[in-house]
Amino acid sequence: MDSSALAFTYLFCALLVGGLIVRTVLASRQIRHVVRHRDRVPEPFAATIGLEAHRKAADYTVAKARFGMLESAIEAALLLGWTLLGGLHALNQWLLSWMGPGMWQQLALLGAFALIGAVLTLPLGWWSTFRLEERFGFNKMSLGLWLGDLLKGAVVGGLVGLPIATLVLWLMGAAGPAWWLWAWGAWMAFNLLLLVLYPTLIAPLFNKFEPLQDETLKTRVNDLMKRCGFAAKGLFVMDGSKRSAHANAYFTGFGAAKRVVFFDTLLKQLAPPEIDAVLAHELGHYKRRHILQRTVLMFALSLVGFAVLGWVSRQAWFYTGLGVVPSLEAPNDALALLLFLMVVPLFTYFLSPLLAQLSRRHEFEADAYACAHTDGHDLASALLKLYKDNASTLTPDPVFARFYYSHPPASERIARLRGATA
Ligand SMILES: [Zn+2]
Repeated sequence: MDSSALAFTYLFCALLVGGLIVRTVLASRQIRHVVRHRDRVPEPFAATIGLEAHRKAADYTVAKARFGMLESAIEAALLLGWTLLGGLHALNQWLLSWMGPGMWQQLALLGAFALIGAVLTLPLGWWSTFRLEERFGFNKMSLGLWLGDLLKGAVVGGLVGLPIATLVLWLMGAAGPAWWLWAWGAWMAFNLLLLVLYPTLIAPLFNKFEPLQDETLKTRVNDLMKRCGFAAKGLFVMDGSKRSAHANAYFTGFGAAKRVVFFDTLLKQLAPPEIDAVLAHELGHYKRRHILQRTVLMFALSLVGFAVLGWVSRQAWFYTGLGVVPSLEAPNDALALLLFLMVVPLFTYFLSPLLAQLSRRHEFEADAYACAHTDGHDLASALLKLYKDNASTLTPDPVFARFYYSHPPASERIARLRGATA
């Protein structure tokens, strides 16, 4: 191994171990902090959240943090197995000797990698649904539904993934040194296409979407949208209760095809003015251009990603440093793609606090928008109900929350809402 490959191996190991240590320290902090505050509901919530609900939230948060630690350890072991321990190299050599070089072999490598990864992490998914979520009463799935989802997901993933993977691999081999620019363009076009196809073709495969029937609520929601100058193609109710007791509402699609989707669980838990307030918050994300900003950021980051991939895919150290010997007779594009996708999260993990901070700022802005167009008290009481029903902790560790939380901690958020409407 030459010195640049060795240096890259060291960097890879440092990031892998460093990331694991940071994750473990943060999760341990979170567990300690939540346990320490388990037996007392914080003052501002004492009137609305009972001690039993508070304890349930603490236990659920601790169980999730423990599970997260186990998950990151297993994922790190798998990553090591694929790379330095030779898993990916062996799989590639075996497929080469069986199929010979070419596009089909490369597609088979991507497919086999995805399939093996899915099978190896299957027990984690099962545990999360049927042990963790089940224990706290959130899981509503039968084993049959869970397996059906997996199968459907694999088929849809194959149908959607195969054409874009073929196109990118073809560009890598045929489009010259600037292939990554073309591939980025193709990737962006593909993402926009998915944005159109997802709500109308893919999501209905997993859930039922029915037009909102409740006339009073429909009138309220339409009034609100008119007040905010917002046009949507339809209001839908999704049978979220089929899988989980967690509640949500969201917008999908873009342009004139936007639709509002309410989880049936949300409609059951909240009173009409609270639903208005939650929807106004979501509208705030549109009106304050958060969706646009996030899309532009995603476009820019993936451009950087493709440029880096274009460069490293031509460097021998990138392969050998990660335990793979590139082939001299066959294209190595699928290998480069897989190695890149495996290594990038090690680097981007350390960007999480920045992205989380941006997201929290957006949440405050959307809350402010909701306060301007509905009653802030309704949003505060809706959030409290959702915190309670989702068993979200009211007492997260401040450092943990800073690093990961995409939404501001309850105490800060509710305090601002109450301040804004006082
Ligand atoms: Zn939000």
